[in-house]
Amino acid sequence: MSGIKEIDRTYIANTYARFPVEIVSGKGSILKDDTGKEYIDMGSGIAVNAFGVGDEEWKQAVIAQLDLVQHTSNLYYTAPGPRLAQMLCEKTGMKKVFFGNSGAEANECAIKAARKYAAEKKGPDCYTIVTLWNSFHGRTLTTLAATGQEHYHELYRPLTPGFVHAKANDLEDLIRVAEAQPTAAVMIECVQGEGGVIALDEDFVKGAAQYCKEHDVLLIADEVQCGNGRSGALYAYMNYGVQPDIVSTAKGIGGGLPLGVCLLGEKVQDVFGPGDHGSTFGANPVCCAGACSILSRIDDRLLAEVREKSAYIFDTLGSAPGVSAVTGMGLMIGILPEKKAAADVVRECMDKGVLCLTAKDRVRLLPALNIPMETLKKAVEIIRAACA
Ligand code: PLP
Repeated sequence: MSGIKEIDRTYIANTYARFPVEIVSGKGSILKDDTGKEYIDMGSGIAVNAFGVGDEEWKQAVIAQLDLVQHTSNLYYTAPGPRLAQMLCEKTGMKKVFFGNSGAEANECAIKAARKYAAEKKGPDCYTIVTLWNSFHGRTLTTLAATGQEHYHELYRPLTPGFVHAKANDLEDLIRVAEAQPTAAVMIECVQGEGGVIALDEDFVKGAAQYCKEHDVLLIADEVQCGNGRSGALYAYMNYGVQPDIVSTAKGIGGGLPLGVCLLGEKVQDVFGPGDHGSTFGANPVCCAGACSILSRIDDRLLAEVREKSAYIFDTLGSAPGVSAVTGMGLMIGILPEKKAAADVVRECMDKGVLCLTAKDRVRLLPALNIPMETLKKAVEIIRAACA
């Protein structure tokens, strides 16, 4: 047996419905398969390759750290983690950082921080976290419990208790759900990704933040998918003029290496003491050195470019025949085809050399933040034709 697709099907756990494409290499926003066919990458590894494939600056930062030491454990100091944490705090006003390896692990940390804060401040009965219907927070049993989509829960019960869900963009419902028991935190994605690329309403996010502030309920922003420049601001909450108490992120910050980040604000900065939480690979120096390179380049100029490219996509596809809605924010975009199924549009685009994703009934676009305008225009033209 030599074909990778066959070996994969035989030996890899059957958890992914893969497209029939084997990617062997790439550069920037162009990927090449095993037959030499080239694709424009409009998914960037599900919002991971922030600067595309083989970005030279990121690669050099990673290689330089690999030449020094790849891992030491958290028993010793290494430079990249603290440098990255300092940069994150200076750019966000958050106070302390915990590093893990994935979005789910970043959310686990956020949940533990919220529970410990509430237990110490309000007592052991205050542990419930309100999340939104249609949210996605990860695949561990606790982050699945946080995820407000019941179909992910089936056959995995009992899940971690202490999560209840409220309707997105319905402040009255959020408050009703939060008041039904002692509540430790409210957790939101400002732009829901897996739930269909839906940006929350400004009034709702502001109202939720105000409620949390007045009731000493922690506000957690899950920025795993919508963070790190993707929304056109460094973090999506910044578009809403609110200040979360905890921010979780992953994906794009690692630029292609696994890195989860939990940012702790003023209220929770001292919630953890030695031994309270940990992760063997947390603050891995290679991942953090790469992330320093990524984060240092998500500057005002890049963010302006993200917004400009976003406006181009909204303008071009918003009025295109066969498209009934374009949703999302920045370079996190959902396209609702009028008649075709999203999966059929994605398949047609793939045949024509453009790789897109889906989210629920939408075609989802998450291109590299630095995708060249000309490349983006070519891809959008193919997507437009596929929707028509
Ligand atoms: N939170 C959000 C908003 C996500 O979109 C995802 C993954 O898609 C996760 C959490 C889980 O991240 P990971 O797959 O890195 O654990």
